[in-house]
Amino acid sequence: MSSELRWTSVGALADVLPDSGVAVLLGGRQIAVFRVDDRLYAIGNHDPASGVNVLARGIVGDLKGELVVASPLYKHHFSLTSGRCLEDPSLSVPTYDARAADGQIWLRRPTAAAERSPARRRLVVVGNGMAAMRTLEELLALAPDAHDITVFGAEPESGYNRILLSALLAGERTREELVTHPAGWYRERGITLHAGDPIVRIDRVRRRVCAASGTEAAYDRLLLATGSLPVVLPIPGRDLEGVMTFRDLHDVERMLGAARTGGSAVVIGGGLLGLEAANGLHARGMQVTVVHLMSHLMERQLDTRAGALLQAQLEERGLRFILPAQTVAILGSHRARGVRLHDGRELAADLIVMAVGVRPNLGLAAAAGLRCERGILVDDTLQTFDPAIYAVGECVQHRNVVFGLVAPLWQQARVCAAHLAEVGVRRYGGSQEATRLKVGGVDVFSAGDYAEREGRESLVIRDAKRGIYKRLVLENDRVRGAVLYGDTRDGSWYQRLIDEGRDVGTVRDQLMFGDPAALEAPAA
Ligand SMILES: Cc1cc2nc3c(=O)[nH]c(=O)nc-3n(C[C@H](O)[C@H](O)[C@H](O)COP(=O)(O)OP(=O)(O)OC[C@H]3O[C@@H](n4cnc5c(N)ncnc54)[C@H](O)[C@@H]3O)c2cc1C
Repeated sequence: MSSELRWTSVGALADVLPDSGVAVLLGGRQIAVFRVDDRLYAIGNHDPASGVNVLARGIVGDLKGELVVASPLYKHHFSLTSGRCLEDPSLSVPTYDARAADGQIWLRRPTAAAERSPARRRLVVVGNGMAAMRTLEELLALAPDAHDITVFGAEPESGYNRILLSALLAGERTREELVTHPAGWYRERGITLHAGDPIVRIDRVRRRVCAASGTEAAYDRLLLATGSLPVVLPIPGRDLEGVMTFRDLHDVERMLGAARTGGSAVVIGGGLLGLEAANGLHARGMQVTVVHLMSHLMERQLDTRAGALLQAQLEERGLRFILPAQTVAILGSHRARGVRLHDGRELAADLIVMAVGVRPNLGLAAAAGLRCERGILVDDTLQTFDPAIYAVGECVQHRNVVFGLVAPLWQQARVCAAHLAEVGVRRYGGSQEATRLKVGGVDVFSAGDYAEREGRESLVIRDAKRGIYKRLVLENDRVRGAVLYGDTRDGSWYQRLIDEGRDVGTVRDQLMFGDPAALEAPAA
């Protein structure tokens, strides 16, 4: 083995003052060693722009989140972690492994396996969900060769479409159809995937992440996309076997396993997710009762009348509902055998599904000292308070908003990718959310902000006979929100009006009758 590949002592640690550098020799080559925050960095001392050995004498600092040294001659900046020249990547310099021990500076040349092109940054992605994958796709489209990419996912699968879990549960899709990014997708793009190996620690000073398996990875840029965690009600019995949430493939597999023997299920929560879980379990042959805290279903989207229409339609299919009702305990000693409600009623069940909401998964970020409130705080470029760390998806809080649907994540991914690719002029200014209930034969659509408040008015159509309900929320002659039940054909049009913030004052009277262009279209 070449002597440079072994750790070699090259001088006394005391000779390098904090935040400055010294030149040392390793195998006859001049190396610039820098000491920053009690950590050593080593890069070639030769400045390719000026052709002189001067980098050790440069000023060390942080430039756009990158630890750099400025060449004393032509003022090019070189990354201390990757050797990359920020102004001109073709002028980059080699990097060396450096550490301090016994009062000495120790250096070695990275082995061929660890060596990489100094022009490429190391991007580590934490989370392998929908926001992470979309950001990577956008990034690869903009700058396919700019990064060495490593992805860590807590789930054992490669990328899949979480939205389709409801369809998988209901038997409308197969597991294979959910996969969006098979293992080959990563391989073909040179991306290293560590599936089933969650990151447990971020060392922001050394810019390294550590996974549960002990695997470590160094980064120049870190992307957090850890999603949400399902809320588990803090009630007795929540840890019993047979109690589950509805978030990932593993949850669906457990539900399918339970449904194989028939039996009965209680779904706690009558929102979108709860109703999709209930529909799926019912389709798999279980007797399902939905217990909901509020007085009507999907109260965030629907008013009392529309909620009642939805309930009646689902009851006709064989689902049962108890509402308003609060679940106060799960019954059973080892396995769940039912639930108790606040009025003392007990419902027997073999399976209990909690679908009562999600909260941003921010534990890892908070433990690393990143600023978090309800989510990980990000600015309009999706950058966290550490400039080397970005975050996207349901784990973030942007302008005081947290997210629960994919449409905003697509917009975040575009902006974040542009900044990672360093072509970042894009800004994320927030999004309007839109969703549909995915229960076959039941049409519910909602978009924008449909909350009632001062200065707003609602235009409503109710046609109980045809099972149709439409509500548009207007403010200053602009459509702010839309809720459609029974006939959702105009959903996209209303969504466009909301997104564009168009003045609808002149067409106000026709708004409830749908897209005029569609009405005027000649019959086929
Ligand atoms: C059943 C269901 C149906 C849905 N239907 C709709 C719908 O119809 N329309 C809609 O818009 N949205 C829907 N959603 C919501 C949508 O799926 C989410 O908005 C989207 O998945 C969020 O993407 P994300 O990447 O932020 O989080 P996720 O997709 O949850 O991905 C986060 C990933 O990070 C991983 N992770 C967490 N911590 C770590 C760690 N420390 N190390 C490594 N990996 C980690 C997690 O295991 C997970 O795989 C649905 C969600 C569910 C569960």
